[in-house]
Amino acid sequence: MNILPSFEALGLSEKTLFALQDKGFEEPTEIQRLCIPLLLEENTEVIGQAQTGTGKTAAFALPIIETLDEREKAVQALILTPTRELALQVSEEINSLKGKHKIEVAPIYGGASMENQLKRLKRGVHIVVGTPGRILDHIRRSTLKLSNLEFMVLDEADEMLDMGFIEDIEEILKVVPENRRMLMFSATMPPQILKLSDTFMKDAKVVRTQIKDSASPDTDQIYYEVKEEDKIEALSRIIDKEPEFYGVVFCRTKVQCDQISRLLNDRGYESEALHGDLSQRERENILHRLKERHSRILVATDVAARGLDIKDLTHVINYSIPQEPEVYIHRVGRTGRAGKRGTAITFITPREVRKFAFIMRKSLSEARKEELPSAKEIINSKRERLREHLIEVTKESPTNDYYYLAKEIIGEKSALDTFASLLSYLYSNELDKSKYKDISVKSSKRNNKKDKKSEDKNRANDKIKEPSLDENGLTRLFIARGKKDGYTKRDLVKIIKSQTGARDEDIHDVLVLEDSSFISAPYDVANSILKAFDKRSFGGNKPLISRARGKEGGRKNSEKSKKRDYHVNRPEGKRRDKNTKKGKRRSR
Ligand code: AMP
Repeated sequence: MNILPSFEALGLSEKTLFALQDKGFEEPTEIQRLCIPLLLEENTEVIGQAQTGTGKTAAFALPIIETLDEREKAVQALILTPTRELALQVSEEINSLKGKHKIEVAPIYGGASMENQLKRLKRGVHIVVGTPGRILDHIRRSTLKLSNLEFMVLDEADEMLDMGFIEDIEEILKVVPENRRMLMFSATMPPQILKLSDTFMKDAKVVRTQIKDSASPDTDQIYYEVKEEDKIEALSRIIDKEPEFYGVVFCRTKVQCDQISRLLNDRGYESEALHGDLSQRERENILHRLKERHSRILVATDVAARGLDIKDLTHVINYSIPQEPEVYIHRVGRTGRAGKRGTAITFITPREVRKFAFIMRKSLSEARKEELPSAKEIINSKRERLREHLIEVTKESPTNDYYYLAKEIIGEKSALDTFASLLSYLYSNELDKSKYKDISVKSSKRNNKKDKKSEDKNRANDKIKEPSLDENGLTRLFIARGKKDGYTKRDLVKIIKSQTGARDEDIHDVLVLEDSSFISAPYDVANSILKAFDKRSFGGNKPLISRARGKEGGRKNSEKSKKRDYHVNRPEGKRRDKNTKKGKRRSR
């Protein structure tokens, strides 16, 4: 047997090697090289530190495929993922890796028909890939039986914890058989992950891949300093400059996604917005159109785009600066894959320069600053491309039909005039410089101040006063309810979502303390949460949500936050005078 010797050396069977050959894999990735032999041994448990795009799915899926008993149509592997997209993607990846192994895989996630899932489970499957909430639902209804479970996998464990799934996960882990093997994959290893492994794993081997704390060397990282109002123009220029543009534009909120996609479409660039407001079918359709290249621009939030695996993207655009260094790496990692060149572009407003420097430092990334191409440069390059294209197509001899039609049309007019008229009809204002709006690409302290002033003015116009921003530019909110009132992270997020229309991706850093809780949200979302809870309460009397005060606002420092004396039930006006000062004094 001499196909794929480097995979064969890991201990994989011939059947699997053929499947890998069909899939086009040539060499194992680092995480595969490290994990596969370990997992092919009996009873080994593994904690794998690996990011998306490293091949981690195959790293755990191949040994599972090799080990499962095909004849036993019972769930032998359960894989938990943070999102339905990832659940679908992992299922698809397993299906494409299984080759001739007779293995059934079922993706089970919220938002999809329960009935179909029940039917599928009833027919019998070997592997279930799903999101924690829906999986728990099936376990509780006894429609998902796990007594034959051999492998319990937590994929993107850190994301699941961030999304507040810890209680669900723990509940699931408590009911799976003791003698199952547990595998956990995570890009980062926060203490909760280690705690989880201490509680539920026996003697797990930790496998760390060379953390790609920077983008692929095949990705060119560039940033432009652009004012907020000039970003759409800047994006248009970038798309126009790159004839083969095929990219994802990352935005902070779903509202922004819709808005940017609409603006792009108004300007004649076909784009699609992907965010949590869409039905599963709509999402699948959008992704299908993108994969088939019917559309070439996807405008997405981080959560909606998590786990997206679209091949050969030429560009990732950080339309809004990411909130965390890890998010930057995740976003940028969507391009420059599998040896292909990619470009990651970040727009930063003058006020975000320091934040971006922090992200670069933390993610060990390096982006170079560039000036946006001028309208003249773009027109020149478009003109050149059009010229080359026309020269190429006019080399072809016309068919008789067109020849005689052209002869008829030219009539008395010169061929030159006719040809020019035809071009302006076909390409309309493509070469018109005035199509591009002026943008000031230079940043200066004055600009900076002006920007800040106009932002401040906008905010002052809003009825709710400037909320306190945390170090990520998110607004920290305080909730006068905590564990002792029976609230968990999930409850809080659920209530806020149901009352305000906020989405999962809008709610960050949920911290539930004994008496109170904190969340962070983007400015607009925070305002709508504040408005929504101005009169309403968490199923009780008065308690409201208010802006967190103090420097940290409870962020990642529970002890300090507990001690802080927040007065959330006072009316807005009263709160501001005395307590704000107090809060300020404390935070110094
Ligand atoms: P993952 O990190 O599992 O999301 O994988 C990212 C992408 O890399 C997927 O499209 C995989 O099919 C692909 N991939 C995984 N392993 C290999 C490999 N050994 N060679 C080539 N592509 C791979």
